[in-house]
Amino acid sequence: MTRIFQDDRGTGFGTRAIHAGEREDPLAGAIMPPVYLTSTYVQQGLGENKGYEYARGKNPTREALERTIAALEGAQHGFAFASGMGCLDSIMKLFQSGDHIVCGANVYGGTFRLFDKLLQHLGLSFSYVDTTDVQRIEDACTPRTKAILVETPTNPLMQITDLTAAAEVAHAHQALLIVDNTFATPFFQQPFSHGADIVFHSATKFLNGHSDVICGVAAVIDDDIAAKMQFIHNAAGAVAGPFDSWLVLRGMKTLHLRMPQHDRNGRAVAAQLADRLGHERVRYPGLKSHPQHSLACMQMRGMGGMVTVDVGSRELANQVLKKVRIFSLAESLGGVESLISHPASMTHASVPPERRAELGLTEGMVRLSCGVEDTNDLLEDVEQAFAGL
Ligand SMILES: *Cc1c(COP(=O)(O)O)cnc(C)c1O
Repeated sequence: MTRIFQDDRGTGFGTRAIHAGEREDPLAGAIMPPVYLTSTYVQQGLGENKGYEYARGKNPTREALERTIAALEGAQHGFAFASGMGCLDSIMKLFQSGDHIVCGANVYGGTFRLFDKLLQHLGLSFSYVDTTDVQRIEDACTPRTKAILVETPTNPLMQITDLTAAAEVAHAHQALLIVDNTFATPFFQQPFSHGADIVFHSATKFLNGHSDVICGVAAVIDDDIAAKMQFIHNAAGAVAGPFDSWLVLRGMKTLHLRMPQHDRNGRAVAAQLADRLGHERVRYPGLKSHPQHSLACMQMRGMGGMVTVDVGSRELANQVLKKVRIFSLAESLGGVESLISHPASMTHASVPPERRAELGLTEGMVRLSCGVEDTNDLLEDVEQAFAGL
């Protein structure tokens, strides 16, 4: 009997994370998918092949990752890209010159840069709105609006958008709801169950979880959108390499074990910082003082490890960043190791200062990505690094 994972429906998240990518290995029965380091495939005759022709189009290792992300998001189709930005750039190729997109004001800095510095000049137009207020999304829609793009929670302000309400607005305008699910991951948030049309990730972050690869993934339910995505994937070619795919696949097998510890650490660090500095300075959806705490509780199964704190000034932020011992000063997030960063000068440096000010993204903000180390050690590190503030 071959034991191949047949139907992912009705089985637990962890079981899907571990088994959904599986296919039988006819040669040796390898339990892990081989890394198919090949650019092409031998064909038997004209038009006769094993379903694989050239590796930009299909690679079995990449397909294992694509099946897994589809299964975890509750979708039918998965696509793996060379990076989160490559993934979003390919998604945007679904649209044409003249189309309008409503985008969250506080999206990832690189997303804003892609739209503002590149895609805008190719004829797409964008409105940036505070998507925490669904009325503003509605107000920004025009007859040319083809998509609404939201990130929730946002980076680094940790604002929550009501996905069900955003999907209703999108569909009322025959537009797609595209969700960047990088921060929450499918373990804590399932955008398709709220009506999303496309879900994507920087798999570089929590999905891979080990800070050793750059990768992006997207998931889609609708067959027509998926067919277009498939075409773009091959035609534009921003595909994930086989080894990167394999690393992300391996990382995702423990997503359900890592996320609860990120969550425990995030909650503990946020609570301690709120105690020390005051609740108004700490942004974490798990705190009762978060303005959208109840929406977060309804929409998310957990709050994760991302915490943003405003220490008041760039100087004080720098002081904290220099004092940490377990947290490392670095861009990125979602790895097993804890990181700390300064959004204004790092991840959001590409957002002009006046826009940052408008958003409330201050020079005094530091963003913590709580890893999966022992909670007490992180709390001690935070205690000593923020002492005296
Ligand atoms: C990092 C990140 C991206 C970009 O992904 P890359 O893999 O770095 O290209 C997009 N969205 C969010 C929320 C991110 O954190």
